[in-house]
Amino acid sequence: MIRLTELRLPLHHEEGALRPAILRRLGLDDRDLEAVRVFRRGYDARNPRAIMLVYTLDLAVRDEAGVLRRHAGDPRVGPAPDTRYQFVGRAPEGAPRPIVIGTGPCGLLAALVLAQMGFRPIILERGTVVRERTKDTWGLWRRGVLQPESNVQFGEGGAGTFSDGKLYSGIKDPRFLGRKVLEEFVRAGAPEEILYVSKPHIGTFRLVTMVESIRAQIEALGGEYRFGTKVVDLLVEPDAAGQRHVRGVALAGGEVLRADQVVLAIGHSARDTFGMLRDRGVFLEPKPFSIGVRIEHPQGMIDRVRFGPNAGNKLLGAADYKLVHHCGNGRSVYSFCMCPGGRVVAATSEPGRVVTNGMSQYSRAEFNANAGIVVGISPSDYPDHALAGVEFQRTWESLAFEAGGGDYRAPGQLVGDFLAGRASTALGEVEPSYKPGVTPTDLARCLPDFAVTAMREALLAFDAQIPGFARADAVMTGVETRTSSPIRIRRGLDLQSVNTAGLFPAGEGAGYAGGILSAGVDGIRVAEALAYAATGREVPR
Ligand code: FAD
Repeated sequence: MIRLTELRLPLHHEEGALRPAILRRLGLDDRDLEAVRVFRRGYDARNPRAIMLVYTLDLAVRDEAGVLRRHAGDPRVGPAPDTRYQFVGRAPEGAPRPIVIGTGPCGLLAALVLAQMGFRPIILERGTVVRERTKDTWGLWRRGVLQPESNVQFGEGGAGTFSDGKLYSGIKDPRFLGRKVLEEFVRAGAPEEILYVSKPHIGTFRLVTMVESIRAQIEALGGEYRFGTKVVDLLVEPDAAGQRHVRGVALAGGEVLRADQVVLAIGHSARDTFGMLRDRGVFLEPKPFSIGVRIEHPQGMIDRVRFGPNAGNKLLGAADYKLVHHCGNGRSVYSFCMCPGGRVVAATSEPGRVVTNGMSQYSRAEFNANAGIVVGISPSDYPDHALAGVEFQRTWESLAFEAGGGDYRAPGQLVGDFLAGRASTALGEVEPSYKPGVTPTDLARCLPDFAVTAMREALLAFDAQIPGFARADAVMTGVETRTSSPIRIRRGLDLQSVNTAGLFPAGEGAGYAGGILSAGVDGIRVAEALAYAATGREVPR
């Protein structure tokens, strides 16, 4: 196969226009082109009046060597890479069962690949099965009732289940592990298009059924799930050389499960588990994350700015944006987890706190566009101990709870009022989507001063890029604190904890992923590292 990249055609091109364009581009006769597969389809909307579709294509041609020779030196023509996933090994006969803690994308992919290699993992999840969890999550959104063990952050499917389901990432991925994640998602019921559109997303409802389908596959391969099963302690014992080695876990009910290999895929909100790990002496350290608010605009406004007369085109879908501004006070402000045509959701896992995030359905057809507008902070912003970032997050989440009225409504403010430094007393035309509701107030009550200063400057800079971004009636709700993990559970080249052998910290909570796709990729990497360790081999560098 030959890979041809950067083949550009106008947005409204006829279906049959692709083949002649390929023939022209490669100087081929029609009979020389045997098969065409779209590997990726993106778009270039820099000129909204002349949007171009940009194709990456895999082609079967009659004389592959000849075509490659004729186009040697053209970076857009080359052999198509082999993206098929190769397992790194099989579980040895009678291999002990590893434990996977957490069923977010990281734990799910780790467990699936372990099961596919014959390891029969035991999967422990503090929350409930995804259907129960859906009811509990809606309980907070509809009635203001939080279930601390079953919510947007905790339960089958992990944090990304009630999300926009964006499935792209900027990570380096030389082994195409992201492709393996997407292929498993398609096998579990995701639409095929996620394999070729440049910014795939699946929305919330499909994620729910996919998570169930992956569970069925893992169980069919000998894996075993236990829900409502919170890990509250680690068994750590010295090995023959006197080094710390994990030997199992203790569960909330008092039961102890022994295992020499434990994947720790607990996400960024398992604050109690972070504390337990620190108390057990597992090496962890603070890391940078971000804090800010969600902002909402009419989706139609974003579509018109980004796509001009092509707003509403089916292939383009609802428009997104990605913004960054470096401020005079040395802070950077950026848009985070932008959800076109979606809604802002209550995302706390702890009582007495308010946290925002965003989600959408596959259709992305809701009225508002929303995104986090967040300010980067580093461990130098708070006292120097491993879990100080968690305390920092909690402080602002509690203040947001208070400012919202103490019943899980979010504090909200109009952009015009925020820029003018006055509290909002009413909301305008842009109706906030956050449930159970929004209390107009002054968001400066629940954000650090440096964040408020930086966001004021950035909103005006963003308005220069997207006219209307700083419109007076755009709504902001807060606080957005769970942008990534406030800690890193440091691991070595063998992907095991640097001071506790057999423990594989993984995914977003351990500080090695940010988003569904990268968490899934990290899950595969950790499953592979575990297989290498189980078969006495080193993880290749
Ligand atoms: P998680 O998904 O957080 O999973 C951790 C799991 O571990 C949880 O199920 C938890 O219950 C369990 N657990 C924790 N502690 C224990 C314990 N002690 N014992 C047993 N089980 C435990 N990312 C994107 O790429 N695209 C998006 O569109 C997107 N939208 C999002 C929308 C929302 C509302 C949220 C909250 C997040 C969104 N994200 C999105 C981020 C994405 O969800 C996370 O990056 C991803 O889920 C991290 O995966 P993970 O497996 O590392 O951790």
